[in-house]
Amino acid sequence: MLKTAWTIGHVFGIPIRLHITLLLILPLFGWIFGNNIELFAEMLQIDPEQLVFGSYFIGFLLGIGLFASVALHELGHTWMALRRGMTIRSITLLILGGIAEIEDMSKEPTDELVIAIMGPLVSIILGVSFYALGAYLPNMVADLRIFLLYLGQINIVLAVFNLLPAFPSDGGRVLRAVLARRGNYLAATKTATSLGQSMAILFAILGVFSGNILLLVVAFFLYIAANHEYQTNLLSSTLSGFTVSDLMTRDVVTVPAHHTLSQLLAFMYDEKHTGYPVVNGDDVVGCVTMQDVRKVDVGQRDDYKVQDIMATDLHTIKPKADAFDALTKMSKEQIGRLFVFDQDELIGIITRSDIMKGFQLRQIERREKA
Ligand SMILES: [Zn+2]
Repeated sequence: MLKTAWTIGHVFGIPIRLHITLLLILPLFGWIFGNNIELFAEMLQIDPEQLVFGSYFIGFLLGIGLFASVALHELGHTWMALRRGMTIRSITLLILGGIAEIEDMSKEPTDELVIAIMGPLVSIILGVSFYALGAYLPNMVADLRIFLLYLGQINIVLAVFNLLPAFPSDGGRVLRAVLARRGNYLAATKTATSLGQSMAILFAILGVFSGNILLLVVAFFLYIAANHEYQTNLLSSTLSGFTVSDLMTRDVVTVPAHHTLSQLLAFMYDEKHTGYPVVNGDDVVGCVTMQDVRKVDVGQRDDYKVQDIMATDLHTIKPKADAFDALTKMSKEQIGRLFVFDQDELIGIITRSDIMKGFQLRQIERREKA
């Protein structure tokens, strides 16, 4: 698979990852900032002639400064989330900012509030500090002064932009946390996401009329993100209370590793499942799906055995795990099923459609109560 992100270091033991889009956009940001340097110098009444380095060099450094600032902003969220006892899988820096992947995001409004506010707070502190530093340095180091003042401004913009109540931005999360304190979490999410989407539409309109492409891109991502967040919350709240063992299929049908693919195919048509655990004696040794079989030419299906084509990395889950966590695991690992193991024993299989059945049942149940 194509690598799209690289780990550049660890902070608090959490990997900081650099997404490929960021590397592509960095020269563009450098160029945009570089173009503004002379104007910025004039505003500050600094003679551009005093600059030792070229505008584009300073612009490029500002691009790097921007992403370092985004990283520190994300570390602000991370630090608070760690203090609140959550696990953070990684921090990824990408084109439109960063993502701190919080594994077990608390639904406690106070937690969400303090975690959300910490990022913009870091940005404000950085902005003010850079500004203060830049303002007190003598004119002799014009390049450094401009760099610091400009970076200060970037951080303030970052804080303001993130504080807009356009869910799932930080400001949107603060809003949801405030709303959720007074009532239902899902209803609060719905209100916050609708506001986020309205704001995205507003950005898009502004983008069209001002000819600002960046604003259009932001609007697009914001809209998608708001919708995604709402769907995720709907799933998680509807599925709450369901465990893997409530929804899994219990009678597991297995296939022996030494069967040929023709035998396997005949078996699949009889059983009507599309994926099976592969066994060697009593041991589960792999997983085989319809897609694996399709990769082998029809004429060669007697020459290959199940063990030749099966996937050997087993994706497993415990019966007591939440159904929603199982679903999250499947989408992260891009697979359709998980094997349910109790100690060392395979006791069931859970698929996406098993979970969606549970989701539909709950929705019918809710409608009838309403
Ligand atoms: Zn943030």
